Amino acid sequence: MMMRIGHGYDVHRLKEGRKLILGGVDIPYEMGLDGHSDADVLVHAVMDSLLGALALGDIGKHFPDTDPAYKGADSIELLKSVGGIIASQGYKVGNIDSTICAQRPKLSPHIENMRRNIASALSIDISQVSVKATTEEKLGFTGEGLGMSATAVCLLIDA
Ligand code: MG
Repeated sequence: MMMRIGHGYDVHRLKEGRKLILGGVDIPYEMGLDGHSDADVLVHAVMDSLLGALALGDIGKHFPDTDPAYKGADSIELLKSVGGIIASQGYKVGNIDSTICAQRPKLSPHIENMRRNIASALSIDISQVSVKATTEEKLGFTGEGLGMSATAVCLLIDA
């Protein structure tokens, strides 16, 4: 059995007047993440881990933010196409583990829906997708509420 491990990391700045989308969930909050797409920092980290596992670069390479086609893009839709790339390379997802760093708002009520959205986009079971959230104890840019970051690791198995 061939196995490949991948890692992803992403950061987006918080801004007023933007929706907060995390793991495809629209979360009520007074600010949202800024970016060319919907700025779903969690899904971006997950996609980078999947592409990284196969040494296929990152989402900036596959979905350039200079391309107007991706303006306001639904990151869950982009994740579906990354799933297609993985399959075309003869791999399937073993599991994904991820962490969102955010001081506020409280994310625990939304974690199940994030896991469900990611699993569904990749046609895998929710038990294969872990999403966690942590604050950084008011330290640094996430702690000061200036932005959010996310990390993800994944294991791919030859299909
Ligand atoms: Mg991003």
